[in-house]
This record gives sequence, C-alpha cells and structure tokens, in this order.
Amino acid sequence: MKRAGLVILGSGMAGYGLLRAMRRSGVPTAVTLITRDDGAAYLRSDLAPGLAGRRDARDLRLATAAQMAYRLEAEIITQQAVHEIDREHRLIRMQDGEIAYERLVIATGGEPRRPGWLKGSATDQLLTISSLAEYSYFNTVIAGRRRVAVLGGSLAGCELAGNLCAAGLQVTLFEPAAQLAQDLLPTLCAKFGERALAASGVRILCEEGLQRVDQGADALDLLTLAGARCSTDVVVAALGSTPRTALALAAGLEVGHGVRVDKRLATSDPSIFAIGECAEFEKRTIDLPEDIDQAARVLASVLGGEPGRMMVWRPTLRRARLARCPAIICEPPNVAGEWHERATHHGVTAEFHDREGDLRGFALMGTASGDSERLLRRMAH
Ligand SMILES: Cc1cc2nc3c(=O)[nH]c(=O)nc-3n(C[C@H](O)[C@H](O)[C@H](O)COP(=O)(O)OP(=O)(O)OC[C@H]3O[C@@H](n4cnc5c(N)ncnc54)[C@H](O)[C@@H]3O)c2cc1C
Repeated sequence: MKRAGLVILGSGMAGYGLLRAMRRSGVPTAVTLITRDDGAAYLRSDLAPGLAGRRDARDLRLATAAQMAYRLEAEIITQQAVHEIDREHRLIRMQDGEIAYERLVIATGGEPRRPGWLKGSATDQLLTISSLAEYSYFNTVIAGRRRVAVLGGSLAGCELAGNLCAAGLQVTLFEPAAQLAQDLLPTLCAKFGERALAASGVRILCEEGLQRVDQGADALDLLTLAGARCSTDVVVAALGSTPRTALALAAGLEVGHGVRVDKRLATSDPSIFAIGECAEFEKRTIDLPEDIDQAARVLASVLGGEPGRMMVWRPTLRRARLARCPAIICEPPNVAGEWHERATHHGVTAEFHDREGDLRGFALMGTASGDSERLLRRMAH
C-alpha cells in the first residue's frame, strides 16, 4: 500500500490554491493530490464568459495535471474518486486502491443542485455548467441548436443567461421568485440588473418556474407552474451548489451545511482539514475566491508548522456582469438591519445598515460599481 505524508482530495481552486500557498511559503512536505476529474487547472468564473466568446474548453485550461504536478512538486492522481476515509487506519480508499495518510485535506467542493421537483420524460437531459467537463459537454449539445432555457435567476443564473445570449442563442430565464437574485440583491439593484439583461436580449420570466420537461418530436416541451407551454432545445439549471460532505459524514466528522472547521481549518479530527466550498467556518461555507485564498494561506502555515495564522471572516467582494451591467456585492452578515437604495439612470447604490446605523454590506450596479473600495474602507472604520 502506498504511504503519503499529506493527501489533498480535489484539484479545484481550494486544492490547488493550498498546494500553491504551501510551495510559495516554502513548506517542503511531500504531497499527493487525488482528484476525480482530469486535474486540469482552470477558473470556474471563466466558464460563463467563455460561452459568450464561444471558446473551446481546451482554451480555458490554465495548465494540465502534469504541468501542475511539475510546477508544484506534487504527485497528482487523476480520474480517481475517493469513496471512503478510514480514520481508524488513516487510509483513504479510491477506485484503484488505498493510500495511507498522516494528514488529510478535504477540498471536494460543491455539487450543482438539480431540480428534484421537475417532472417529465426529459428531466435526465437537464444540464449544469459547473465544471470544465460540463462546459465541454454543453458545447457539443448546443451545436446546431439555438434555444436555451435557464432555470434559476440567481446572480450566477443571470450571468449565464447574459453570456449565452451574447453567444447568439435565444435565452429564456425562468425564476419562480418575484425578482432576480432575491437572496443577494435588494429591489432596485435587482430591477436594474433585470433591465440590463432584458435589454441585451434575454427573455426573463419572473414568478415563473417550470413543472415539466418532456421530449417532443424535435425539441423539449416545457410546462410552467402557471400552466403555460413553450419549447426549447436545451435546459440548463443554475440553482447553486451544495457542499460535498458525504465522505466526511460517513467518516463521522462534524458536518453542518459543510464540513465544520475551526480557525485553523481543522475538522473535528485534528489530522483532517477541510477547505473551499465543502468547508463550513463559523456557519458560512468558504466559497468566494478571496476567502479560499485566505484559507489556503492559513492552512499552508498550519501544515508548515507555524499555526499562528488564523481564519477570520473579512468583508469580501462578489463581482458579476449581468450582460453589460457590472455588479459588485459585499454580502452583509446575518444581522438585523435594512437596505437603503439610491438609483440614477446609470446605476444603483445600495447600502445595508445594521440597527446601530453601521454600514455592514453593499450592492453596486452599473456606474455605481466604481465605489466599492471607498465603501469597503468605510466599513473598516
Ligand atoms: C459555474 C460557476 C461559476 C462561478 N463563478 C464564480 C465567480 O464568477 N466569482 C466567484 O467569486 N465565485 C464563482 N464561483 C464559485 C467558486 O468558483 C467556487 O466556490 C470555487 O471554485 C470552489 O472551489 P473548490 O476547490 O472548493 O471546489 P471545486 O472547484 O468544485 O473542486 C472540487 C474538486 O474536488 C474533486 N472531487 C470531488 N469529489 C471527489 C472525490 N470523491 N474524490 C476525489 N476528488 C473529488 C473534483 O473533481 C474537483 O477537482 C463559481 C462557481 C461555479 C460553479
């Protein structure tokens, strides 16, 4: 059986980010990284813009697994899904055998949500575009077709719809709630984004979800919750993702929404750590690039024997483009307070103030998006 000092599960932003941070800070530990995909490094945030530019999946690849292994001086095992963590014997089990670890890092990311409520004969044809492999598959399915239905008007769904439209496709966006990105954007910001997206050519149906997708003669037949019928060529779900926690749960680690970690990224087992979208720190998952980056630096110093650095939540920015409209959001924490919005013809500024009147978050649309650094500084005081 193979023995490794440190094993990392996952080759996404978190797994590779950790490895990079370790090498940058001179941590010499031998690392084996195992991933169930092909181990190519890429940015998930490049997927939607890549569709607009009709770029081939190979062009979005920043490096192959072999290049990453060489650059980061690690062994990278690809196309191997780990199916068990045996904590008693400090082993992980995968398709082709077992590896003993001294320390283990879980960086298995999130699973795209699928609409379990959707009925019909074509639900198995529903696509998601959350990885390079899925991006590549979507490109083969859409070849020679024109109509796409996007399910879910979250910020990511809106970005996806805008980019598909920019690629010359006919896009209809279905959102069951009364406004787009309801969990993130206050009313005027959402309206502003909706107008920009509609002006770019996306057909937006708010308060309209799908109940059925059936295979028709030469297209997919859709039935909405309100009983309207229409047809499309492809349906893409953009319903967010759920942390992949099954391995940790089966191994008896503490799991909430994600795998629970402390401020040094250790799970309830001190020899196992978790990072990235699968990990939950102080009730939030670590899923934004800046937070993953911070977590990688903290964990690199812990693994390098310098446990002084600790994870702390800092206000971080989420950037998106809804068609030609830039949006920058600093999500407020879960505290009582209210949004105050100011709209002009070209942009919207929304500030979230807590009950003491302190600025705790903001959303900026259009021309107002240039104001993010000033507002971040205000929040720091
Ligand atoms: C389509 C999309 C667009 C996004 N765009 C943005 C954006 O514009 N801005 C932004 O701030 N954030 C964006 N995000 C969110 C952000 O990209 C993610 O939170 C981040 O990529 C998570 O990185 P990760 O390494 O934790 O997980 P992932 O990137 O999901 O990596 C998980 C890795 O684990 C591997 N794995 C999973 N299970 C196993 C197993 N059992 N055995 C072995 N390997 C396994 C997978 O193969 C993969 O390599 C986007 C997310 C998506 C899906």
